[in-house]
Amino acid sequence: MEPCLFCRIAGGEIPSEKVYEDEFVYAFEDINPQAPVHVLIVPKRHIARVEDLCHSDAETAGRLLTAAAVIAKQRGLTNGFRAVFNNGADGGQEVEHIHLHLIGGVKMGWPPFPSV
Ligand code: AMP
Ligand code: ZN
Repeated sequence: MEPCLFCRIAGGEIPSEKVYEDEFVYAFEDINPQAPVHVLIVPKRHIARVEDLCHSDAETAGRLLTAAAVIAKQRGLTNGFRAVFNNGADGGQEVEHIHLHLIGGVKMGWPPFPSV
């Protein structure tokens, strides 16, 4: 099977603007930023969706958040930020490789979906 887009980015096969990397995760600038700070943090190993995580992925899942903490500090997001997984069709996930959107530098509203 063809490796997915974010596997290829994390593996260096497709260029990206690297923001952070450790043993478990790779972070890069979103190509279509929705805010002054918009970074994507992905596991280096392919995991399609949040519901595919199992207990043995606990360190990888945790590293997505600890990377967000490091990057938020680096970017000076002291007034807050949003960390979002778009997951599955209803969640608006376009790339089927888990990615944490770290979005900041702007005051955000809630809810981020049309009211029902
Ligand atoms: P999602 O809708 O949650 O699946 O988000 C996918 C994100 O990936 C979008 O914000 C896109 O702008 C971003 N994206 C797609 N291709 C690339 C790329 N080659 N480099 C960086 N970001 C990308
Ligand atoms: Zn992948």
